[in-house]
Amino acid sequence: MGLRYEKPRGVRHPRRAVATALLVAAVASACAAPSDGSGGGPGAQGRPAPGQPQGQPQGASGALNAYVEKIRKQRAARVLAAKKWGLDRPPLEAPAPPAVKPKITTRKGFETDGEGLPPVFTTVPTKEKVVFLTIDDGAEKDPELLRMMSELRIPYSAFLSDYLVKEDYGYFKKMQDAGVSLHNHTLNHRYMPGLSYTAQKREICGMQDTIQKRYGKRPSLFRPPYGNYNENTLRAAKACGVKAVPLWASEAFPDRMEWREWDRDLHPGDIVLTHFRGKEDWKGSMPDMIRRVMSTITAKGYAVARLEDYV
Ligand SMILES: [Zn+2]
Repeated sequence: MGLRYEKPRGVRHPRRAVATALLVAAVASACAAPSDGSGGGPGAQGRPAPGQPQGQPQGASGALNAYVEKIRKQRAARVLAAKKWGLDRPPLEAPAPPAVKPKITTRKGFETDGEGLPPVFTTVPTKEKVVFLTIDDGAEKDPELLRMMSELRIPYSAFLSDYLVKEDYGYFKKMQDAGVSLHNHTLNHRYMPGLSYTAQKREICGMQDTIQKRYGKRPSLFRPPYGNYNENTLRAAKACGVKAVPLWASEAFPDRMEWREWDRDLHPGDIVLTHFRGKEDWKGSMPDMIRRVMSTITAKGYAVARLEDYV
């Protein structure tokens, strides 16, 4: 991947140093831009161009030019960031979020007997070529991951379990500050169907309270450990204020993908699961895993979108 395959040939160091400096400058300016996509529309830059008379409106074409220039710069920054982080190609830009969120129902075969419970699903209904990246548990707290995802502007959602997160609440605060939504993956990562309703409720509501206390926001999404649940799980989740229960259609590792569907492929709206893990647990680092999953996603023509824009 990119950086690793760079072969030193002759006296190339001064040139490489200059290239690196330019790269860092470009990436730094990209990071200064708002990461939520707001403030990028035409007319966002209201200031007249240098040399333009004071008080004279810049006009629609000027605003459009500024917008086009901004998009061009963002794309260039993405290309540079992809190179810096060793991606085989730059991530594709997600389309604008839907004006109205799609209506989500429980996937066939995933129902319980209960009615009016939060929907359980593995794919979000959409025709857009987007997938959603979700990262679970919280064991590995790699600062490189935060930098990488911010510089590449890849959105993701975290499903956190307190027994791992409490080792370093600050790490996930930085993640939240970078625009990542933090969701519920229970206090202690137990096998939920093995617990009573009361015990399940303690696991789920307890994590809602912890995230609210530590991060100031009550999650709307909950994912049961191992994807295992029963009717009591969904009843408890609902009682704790959970709106939806996203599972996953595929799982990413540093060396492979695992697929739920028979066609072993991505589909519009698929939720991709992965974990906060390190080299002790699997064959690579968090950045290695991201390189691998992004290679698959981009090669198949998909962009990563924000789950919370759709659910
Ligand atoms: Zn888990």
